[in-house]
Amino acid sequence: AAKDQGRRTYAFYKSEMTESATHYMTRSLELRRGLEKGELRLYYQPQVDAHTGEMVGAEALIRWNHPENGLLGPAEIIPVAEQSGLIVEIGQWVVEEACAQARRWQDEGQNPIRIAINVSVRQMRSPGFAKAVQNVLTDTELDPKWLEIEVTESMIQDEDIMIDTLHELRAVGVSVAIDDFGTGYSCLRSIKSLPIERIKIDRAFINGIPQNTDDAALAGAMIAMARTLGLKVTAEGVETAAQQDFLRAQGCSELQGFLFSKPVPAEQLFAATQHNAKIS
Ligand code: C2E
Ligand code: MG
Ligand code: MG
Ligand code: MG
Repeated sequence: AAKDQGRRTYAFYKSEMTESATHYMTRSLELRRGLEKGELRLYYQPQVDAHTGEMVGAEALIRWNHPENGLLGPAEIIPVAEQSGLIVEIGQWVVEEACAQARRWQDEGQNPIRIAINVSVRQMRSPGFAKAVQNVLTDTELDPKWLEIEVTESMIQDEDIMIDTLHELRAVGVSVAIDDFGTGYSCLRSIKSLPIERIKIDRAFINGIPQNTDDAALAGAMIAMARTLGLKVTAEGVETAAQQDFLRAQGCSELQGFLFSKPVPAEQLFAATQHNAKIS
């Protein structure tokens, strides 16, 4: 009986693994095709100065304009890309596309804004990442001060290679932000010693403001801590005027969220923020 059960268990796992492996193979081949056919897009979401309401930056967020399935988000791109190793190529494309776009906007005479890009662990760990970023900046003739790299707390947890890369990025002149701050395990000690310029408070904390007094207190404490350490602080997922008022009063530097604009295609970014550009 035990033998039978063992066999059944084995058969069960085998068929499940086969199914997911096939699915994953299909998705990664499709993603490669999508990358090669130029179906990947960057959408941009404004980051506004909390006091003036002026757009001072934009975060680039990946999309896949899939021929049959429509516009797909990062959840359907990044995990497949990470598993298959395609992430390094896709990540490189993101750096190139974001920097080229920043250059186009500056050439068009727009007020220069900082462009933030998200990177994944595997991309950061790939040898020569900082050098690759530097090469793109040189090729696009973009001043490094206009580029920011967003990493998550969990990515840099006790990882010497990652911390070396952060120092290399700083030497190149790009800034680094800790994304989804408050959701990882980073201790305050590590935040203090890392070469970073900014924390981005995760929208999980912003969501409950102002009704949820715990969230409000935590967000307030994170802002105060960041300011004490001389870091800039951006709140993510700002959806209401009440959240904006609270965060502004607490001394948050920048705000990002649907209140200002959803992520939009590059050609809509400056138009999207024109009508609500000033908070007053
Ligand atoms: P993230 O970096 O924390 O990006 C913010 C996410 O919150 C975006 O989702 C954005 O559309 C969403 N968001 C912004 N404002 C609001 C709001 O007011 N309310 C709500 N409910 N949501 C808001 P998106 O575009 O689906 O991206 C999800 C995650 O995928 C990103 O989280 C980032 O971790 C990852 N990602 C996006 N683009 C890239 C990329 O090019 N490379 C890598 N490695 N990861 C990426
Ligand atoms: Mg981000
Ligand atoms: Mg985030
Ligand atoms: Mg996130």
